[in-house]
Amino acid sequence: MSTSGENKETRVRAALSIAGLDPSGGAGLIADVRTFDHLGVHPMGVASSITFQSTRGVTGRYDLPPGEVRAQLDTLYEDRRPDAVKTGMLGSAAVMQEVAGFVKEREARMLVVDPVIESGDGAPLLGKGGLSKMVELLLPLAALVTPNVKEASAICGFDVFEVSDIEAAALWIVKAGAGAVLVTGARREDEGGAIATDVYFDGRKFRVMDSPWIEGERIHGTGCVLSAAVTAFLASGVQLPTAVERAREVVRSAILGAVRVGSGTACADPTSFKETAGETA
Ligand code: PLP
Repeated sequence: MSTSGENKETRVRAALSIAGLDPSGGAGLIADVRTFDHLGVHPMGVASSITFQSTRGVTGRYDLPPGEVRAQLDTLYEDRRPDAVKTGMLGSAAVMQEVAGFVKEREARMLVVDPVIESGDGAPLLGKGGLSKMVELLLPLAALVTPNVKEASAICGFDVFEVSDIEAAALWIVKAGAGAVLVTGARREDEGGAIATDVYFDGRKFRVMDSPWIEGERIHGTGCVLSAAVTAFLASGVQLPTAVERAREVVRSAILGAVRVGSGTACADPTSFKETAGETA
């Protein structure tokens, strides 16, 4: 165990989430911060939107004015530039544009973009014009984009179900300028049962990653935990393909260990993940 003196002398690795506040703690900034902290990097958070939300669903949202998001970022960066950054729910086209402009100016190279468009139960989390701004301005700056199949379909403008569609979507997103893409959550049936397929594409090779489908109710916050875990591993110095593999393990543990917080949807719990020996960065 280190003393507080040692901690002050060694500059801690830090990851930043620019995302929405989900007051229930199941998704958004709070889920990201819990994931960063659990994976051993100092959590930083910039709020882009405040949602009115419980585990029963989203009843509304207040998107911060872009200048206020910018002021949070400027103030933070004047002091400390994080080692990796993720964006989650950005809320509006104006904030999308502001955040993309900031990332471009500050050369935040380790950028993970979770392209949040709506909540799992269909509440809109991105306003009018936000999607086209995301494609035009934010995707070209991303080291990794992490859409689920529904988000991939909205981004690319075609249905994404089969592995061939997922590969086409991944290619589309890399052509839009992203360094790499992880499309998640495709459900396939196999002789042995249902399979969850994720496809990783870095512009050269497709990697199809299967794991047994975890049956049961929908779990809140899985996309946030996945992209936050990749960001935390990148901030720790882990290379992108390994960061993606390990983040998939984190999200699997978070689903298996999901907690009942309120009377609605159960929440992914990133603290269920246990690091196996020899896996630190
Ligand atoms: N609320 C916020 C602030 C989010 O960022 C997200 C997802 O990214 C959600 C809600 C939706 O989470 P889920 O789709 O897991 O229910």
